[in-house]
Amino acid sequence: MSTHRVWKRLVGVEHTVVEAVDLEGDEGGEVVVVRVRPTRSRRGCCSRCGRRAGRYDAGGGRRRWRAIDLGSTMVELEADAPRVRCRSHGVVVAAVPWARPGSRFTRSFEDLCAWLAAHASGAAVAELLRTSWRSVTAIVERVVADAVGGRDLLAGVTRIGIDDIAHRKGHRYLVAVTDHDTGRLIWAAPGRDQVTVEAFFDALGPERAARVTHVSADGAEWIHAAVRSKAPQATICLDAFHVVAWATKALDEVRRRLAADLRAAGAADAAAGMKGTRWALLKNPADLTTLQRTTVAGLATLNRGLYRAYLLKEQMRASFAAKGADGRALLAGWLAWAKRSQLAPFVKLARTIEHYKPLILNTLDHGLSNARSEATNVHLRTLTRRAYGFHSPEALIAMAMLTRGGCCPPLPGRN
Ligand SMILES: [Zn+2]
Repeated sequence: MSTHRVWKRLVGVEHTVVEAVDLEGDEGGEVVVVRVRPTRSRRGCCSRCGRRAGRYDAGGGRRRWRAIDLGSTMVELEADAPRVRCRSHGVVVAAVPWARPGSRFTRSFEDLCAWLAAHASGAAVAELLRTSWRSVTAIVERVVADAVGGRDLLAGVTRIGIDDIAHRKGHRYLVAVTDHDTGRLIWAAPGRDQVTVEAFFDALGPERAARVTHVSADGAEWIHAAVRSKAPQATICLDAFHVVAWATKALDEVRRRLAADLRAAGAADAAAGMKGTRWALLKNPADLTTLQRTTVAGLATLNRGLYRAYLLKEQMRASFAAKGADGRALLAGWLAWAKRSQLAPFVKLARTIEHYKPLILNTLDHGLSNARSEATNVHLRTLTRRAYGFHSPEALIAMAMLTRGGCCPPLPGRN
């Protein structure tokens, strides 16, 4: 095999001719520069549509693209970047087979970067690839746009979850739509209003909107209103995930009030002890450590109010786990118990549950609580809390599509 073909294989490019290889060095380190050109069949094509187009001019002259490191040395491809005149798109830069349009990175570098971003921390990815987090998110946007390009993410959708998610410390919001059957994120857009949700149904189109059978959501009336206007046949279900979260919040309120009362009564030690109960109470019983189990069991005798609140939270979870007639029975029992629990947060929650009861019964009857779409929701919320953040909602959406929309590319050179 000729040396140039070995280099072509090493830098992971196709439809490309390697002309020369050099090692350049400066104070920042050494760079292997691989001078390339597209093969004859790939020369002079529009970067927007890929069709052949006449040469316009030399464009910006020679350009470079970061490629995957070889060992510990950086690699760059260098080539002419002429412009062409496309019949549909006018004067545009010519396509190159080794990179996506407008990128300073090779396609295989971007695929590697996106794969890493889906599997490792952002800081680790940026450091390993000697680039910035901002470049990583821009790469993810390009890779996802490329992956989504040919596919219709909204095909065959019948049971969906619609959710609003805060990011930028609660100053910005997204509407996210997940497919309950695949657990995938299928659509997202910045906004927190009926118009944004209606934009999803417009993207779906009237025919497919008419085939939606179930929509789960939280208590947001603006989501319900959009569903009623664009997919009136769909059954609206209140997301179990949110209802259990309400009960968990009520339990936490009971705990905090009790601690405050103890402090006010001068029982500082007892108040401090309450603090230690927090994680034991909020966790699923199955996830408790032995010590936490002992804490919860101790409450049954030491603090009956707090223990009652704990049982109320658990019964709410149990009614969604049971579903159907059993779930209905547990919910009815829950309502009666919560109303006379003498725990203000639960009395208040009982009123909210009463208000949404028809939608909660829909959830119990149709069993729409889905572990996979719940995992997607949890993941979205985790993404929004990442310390380094996203410069735009589009960047956040692209990251979510990468990890939860099935848009992650395979590692370069593997099948
Ligand atoms: Zn074109």
